[in-house]
Amino acid sequence: MNFELLILGTGSATPVLEHNPSAYLLTFENEHFLIDCGEGTQFRLLEHKVRTYRIRHIFISHLHGDHYFGLIGLLSSWNLNQRKDDLTIYGPTELAEILTTQFKYSHTFLHYKINFVVTDPAKPGVILDTSALTVETIPLIHRIDCAGFLFRTKPTKRKLLVDKLPENFPIPYLKKLKEGHDVEDPLTGAIYKNEEYTTEGAASKSFAYCSDTAYNEAIIPQLQNVTTIFHEATFIEAELKRAQQTNHSTASQAATIALKSNAKQLIIGHYSSRYKTLDTHLAEAKAVFENTHLAQEGLTFKL
Ligand SMILES: [Zn+2]
Ligand SMILES: [Zn+2]
Repeated sequence: MNFELLILGTGSATPVLEHNPSAYLLTFENEHFLIDCGEGTQFRLLEHKVRTYRIRHIFISHLHGDHYFGLIGLLSSWNLNQRKDDLTIYGPTELAEILTTQFKYSHTFLHYKINFVVTDPAKPGVILDTSALTVETIPLIHRIDCAGFLFRTKPTKRKLLVDKLPENFPIPYLKKLKEGHDVEDPLTGAIYKNEEYTTEGAASKSFAYCSDTAYNEAIIPQLQNVTTIFHEATFIEAELKRAQQTNHSTASQAATIALKSNAKQLIIGHYSSRYKTLDTHLAEAKAVFENTHLAQEGLTFKL
């Protein structure tokens, strides 16, 4: 199963040369999901040779500029490149109006269709449900309305061990084997034991995106047993007060959420521009939750 996260940008607020504003590319099998779209995201997609026609869903957590100022540029470039595929954008209610106004005054007439799905920042809700995965919103606490996103892949059916199947195996019964049943051939009476001809399918995996947010234990029940959490860690403990004043989190608070959620892996990011190195972020988080990794531009994490 190919389930991975490419870090395109993990800075916050003001620009610095070491970090790009927020943007993350989640890939499941052959489909890309773009999460937040800070300024310059289209350059990062070019840099990483992402086949952008495979992006059919974009998720915007909130309307602070470091999370969506790259969106109009990306959408306009797709129009110039004659994109035809429909696109769905999930985000705050005002986003459709903002983009529509930008298109209106630049006389941009789209060749492709954009569907807008409004996220509710107050309570969790399923906003996408396909045969492969679901996406739910995660209510976050920030200075303006903000929702995170919880992606869950669906478990797949059992896999056939094609080499082991006899040549005369009745084709109509393949589906039954994949569903986990034993099969009896009514003509010959032969019994085909499921465990001999199939192996386990892929288990469900999950990825929670939590940026930007104050420390918020209310999200822990929703995140129970999640495979990987991305949680913002704008500050270190020395700036705890600043984190509280601005509705952001420290690295050790991010790690506490991962620990209490029984997550397998934590990725921290969205660093304040004041920090020249991230050693303290990593050390403080690891002291609480060992399997913590620093998001850095260009890194890909297997989820
Ligand atoms: Zn931010
Ligand atoms: Zn913000």
